[in-house]
Amino acid sequence: MKRNTACGECNGILLVYPDSKEAALGSPGFRQVYRTLAGLPDTVVDWGWYDNKKDTIEYECREWFGEYDSIAISVPFELLYGNTVRILTALGIEPEKEKRSRVKPVVITGGAAPTINPSVAGVIADVVCVGEIETHISYKLNKFISNHQSGAAKRLTPMIGMKIPMKNRAAPDSILISDKIDSSMLAGFDNPALCTFKDAGLVEVGRGCSRGCRFCAAGHIYLPVRHRPVDNILRDASTFSGKAKRIGLVGAALSDHRSLKEILRGILDLGFGLSTSSFRADMLDDEVALLLKQGGVKTVTIAPEGGSERIRSIINKRLTEKQILDAAESCRRAGIGGLKLYYMIGLPWEKQSDIGAIIDLTAKIRDTFQGKGKKITVSINPFIPKPQTPFQWYGMAEPSYINSVYRDLKKAFIRMRGITLKTMSVRTAFMEAVISLGDEAVGRAVIDSNRADIPWKKALEVHGVDVYNLVHRMKAPDEKFSWDNVTGEKRKAVLFASFEKAQQTASTIS
Ligand code: SF4
Repeated sequence: MKRNTACGECNGILLVYPDSKEAALGSPGFRQVYRTLAGLPDTVVDWGWYDNKKDTIEYECREWFGEYDSIAISVPFELLYGNTVRILTALGIEPEKEKRSRVKPVVITGGAAPTINPSVAGVIADVVCVGEIETHISYKLNKFISNHQSGAAKRLTPMIGMKIPMKNRAAPDSILISDKIDSSMLAGFDNPALCTFKDAGLVEVGRGCSRGCRFCAAGHIYLPVRHRPVDNILRDASTFSGKAKRIGLVGAALSDHRSLKEILRGILDLGFGLSTSSFRADMLDDEVALLLKQGGVKTVTIAPEGGSERIRSIINKRLTEKQILDAAESCRRAGIGGLKLYYMIGLPWEKQSDIGAIIDLTAKIRDTFQGKGKKITVSINPFIPKPQTPFQWYGMAEPSYINSVYRDLKKAFIRMRGITLKTMSVRTAFMEAVISLGDEAVGRAVIDSNRADIPWKKALEVHGVDVYNLVHRMKAPDEKFSWDNVTGEKRKAVLFASFEKAQQTASTIS
């Protein structure tokens, strides 16, 4: 039963997404956490999102008007730590954990960013959730809140899937085991109104990806891969009848679902259009392209990531040029109007010829995909070394290199008709890298630059962050990372073996 005041007997929780409402609704994890918390007895869960322009929290649902027992913030990307600080400041809560004098509310963070590296979150939050904790959060949250408030947090035994920040940790070396959500638990959201993005009803098709691209955190932290059964996906899709025009299929490896065509056909049979994220080129044949076209998909996204087979082998993106061109051909034949291509630059052991290969491959794709009104958008992002991936040892390219490659690509693409080039800001990429690889000093810099509006570079300087060392330096084989306790020794050895394999590939393929 919902209560609209702080009665002293129930828990008041505020769940906030540090980005737009659309992004909140597009996050299956966030929605599931809300659903789990909202199902707890004697608990009132308000939820909202952060409005960047107004610098305020907007509430979708607000029933609690007393002091919250806990504030839970999901942080899917590193750059959203800034908004996390702003949310706490807007709520009148000191964002730096060490400086907070009040026991209430307990500040909790979770999501992909703290899962790959909890250090920055640990400076802000009383509890950092690591791993997929959606279905377990209710029990753990209650336990933590009651322990925290009774002053027992110092004695708390670390809980599965949750990291207790250093200060309160009882057993520093055994802080966590990530929970793994079973495919049967990946239920759809039971309130379609809270699960609609623009005119698309969102349905999760599965979690994790088995492809093991060496730069990709999603491919390494959400394992094992779990595909939801077709019946469950279609059952969830049917709940949007009359409420959404399209079904947005959500999942890192949608195109790898063993029943992909059955799912697409089933959704069309239910009378919905389709909306999808990027497709693996090797899974995009004539039939799939036609189903997408029938579902009203106007632009298909393919991510070759690298222009040459050499660089794709190094990063373990196992796609041949033929597979990429065949996918483009299938899209053309199906009558799809646009292609979006994702590439990265500054990749480990990249050569000048790999950059030239981006231009050559795009030209071949354009020749294959040609026709009246066809459009190709090329999106170029700098490689950012991510924790808990095989490339965590490799340094990020320096801004001068990235800018010079951007200039070369702009010159080349400006001459190609029908191609639009988009590049990620070097400043943004660099900031993402610092926070991604950051330690507690970076966490304090994030707080200062967002709370006190100190320029980012200045805040890093004040907190003694050696940016070159952190981001651009090639790390030693026995490097100690601040997230090693999350990775664990065995998995770190597996990641390093994959890094060495990439190095070997780079030296054997010219
Ligand atoms: S296929 Fe995509 S999601 Fe899977 S590991 Fe590669 S980049 Fe990550």
